[in-house]
Amino acid sequence: MREIDAVVIGGGVLGCFAARNLTRWQVSALLIEEKNDVCTGITRANTAVVYPGYDNKPGSLKAAMTVRGNGEFHLLCRELEVPFKRCGSLMVSFGNRADKVLRKKYEQGLKNGVPGLRLLSGGEAGVLEPFLAPEVTSALLAPSTGTVNPWELGIAAYENAVQNGCEAWLNTRVLKIRKEKKRYIMETDREPIACRAVLNCAGVSADKIQELLFPPSVRLFLDGTDFLVMDRQMEVPGHIIFHESEEKGKGITAVPAVEGNLLLSSSKRPLHGGLYATDASSLERLRSTAAFLFPDLELEGVIRSFAAVRPNPYRVEVLNGEIVPDEKSIDSFVIENPGPGFWSLIGIKTPGLTCADQLGRYIALKTAEYLDAPPNSGFNARRKSITRLSGLDFESRVLLAEKDPDHGEIICQCEGISKGEILEAIRRGAVTVDGVKRRVGTGMGQCQGSRCSRMISNLLEGAGDEA
Ligand SMILES: Cc1cc2nc3c(=O)[nH]c(=O)nc-3n(C[C@H](O)[C@H](O)[C@H](O)COP(=O)(O)OP(=O)(O)OC[C@H]3O[C@@H](n4cnc5c(N)ncnc54)[C@H](O)[C@@H]3O)c2cc1C
Repeated sequence: MREIDAVVIGGGVLGCFAARNLTRWQVSALLIEEKNDVCTGITRANTAVVYPGYDNKPGSLKAAMTVRGNGEFHLLCRELEVPFKRCGSLMVSFGNRADKVLRKKYEQGLKNGVPGLRLLSGGEAGVLEPFLAPEVTSALLAPSTGTVNPWELGIAAYENAVQNGCEAWLNTRVLKIRKEKKRYIMETDREPIACRAVLNCAGVSADKIQELLFPPSVRLFLDGTDFLVMDRQMEVPGHIIFHESEEKGKGITAVPAVEGNLLLSSSKRPLHGGLYATDASSLERLRSTAAFLFPDLELEGVIRSFAAVRPNPYRVEVLNGEIVPDEKSIDSFVIENPGPGFWSLIGIKTPGLTCADQLGRYIALKTAEYLDAPPNSGFNARRKSITRLSGLDFESRVLLAEKDPDHGEIICQCEGISKGEILEAIRRGAVTVDGVKRRVGTGMGQCQGSRCSRMISNLLEGAGDEA
């Protein structure tokens, strides 16, 4: 049986950052992911906001990690060569209840050390963001809020982890875990593995993974959220807008994403149908609220809708053999340590993306301390991104196409993405059309991949034949 120091279960953004941060230490590490690629779970459908940190209780780990994570985000994205836009946010209100919420968040943000916060009148907000409806009564400006593409960030962390020596088993499911003396023996559908530490980052299954070995302590109950994406040719707001509605919990969020598209996300709703199935009435509410918030937004520019699942963690007790959850879900980050060398991140919702590196550092440090591992002086934090034609001027594009003719052949016409970029995405691990999309952005334009998907499939098949 293979022996390894530490196994990370799950290749979402949290597992990828746990793995990357493990490689800062002299630890042999393995990431196990049941899907054929990383970042296809919760991380794939997410609002993409790098939060400023005024939403969280002063003194909490969540508040501290959010403010620190936000403050360092540009450095992280520079190391990993991932686009990041610090566009700032406005939380807007339309009445008394929401005005009070904004003031409370402002005061909380000051206590948390969020930089640059300002409470504005509706008029001042309208000057900053002309897209907003004139009925806005007040707004909370947070200049440090930003946006990042979640899967691009996770994939970059994964590539950097592998570059620093982390091994990865994709298409591999963890089935059972048992303890033998000081080792955890993990049965997978590939081969068993023995390890001294486990970092459980299994997203919506993190509770079940922990229960493979330990009694139930936290259970996840899922709900959903819907999204609309607008074509990037449309005129959209420049700030991230958080709508604090007069009806508690019914506000929406609008994010001008790094790719230029506007992302609109609904309030939460119960799950219907499949895990990632959209809900027609929730999408309709999202549209009408967006029309109310932004009277001049041309919603005919919507090119796509999708849904997300949100794992809500509840403390549970076992009473007479039955699992009984607490009445309220847990508000803080759930970081469980049910046995020596075993850490679980369970039900990490918003702001998990903002804190992915912080959480990864935290459990990697705990693991290194447990394993008594010294720092890895060979750790290289820098990861090279795929050269993107869209980021080059005309002359550089011509030079690149002369050097490599695949860069002169455009496959995704909407986004101007070349065969060369797609082949590089495949070399780096994309095995599906969606995997290529998540690495170079094909199929994100107006035609949503109807023109290029066939050609990308052919390139994937060709690469498979060569392998
Ligand atoms: C609707 C929504 C919007 C959000 N918006 C934001 C935001 O704007 N800003 C922000 O900071 N945060 C946001 N978050 C939070 C953030 O998206 C999450 O914290 C983060 O993506 C969670 O990632 P993860 O790695 O835990 O889960 P996942 O991405 O789901 O990864 C878990 C992985 O584990 C794998 N796995 C499961 N079981 C097994 C097994 N038995 N064996 C092997 N592999 C297994 C799965 O296949 C999956 O790939 C949002 C969350 C939601 C739900």
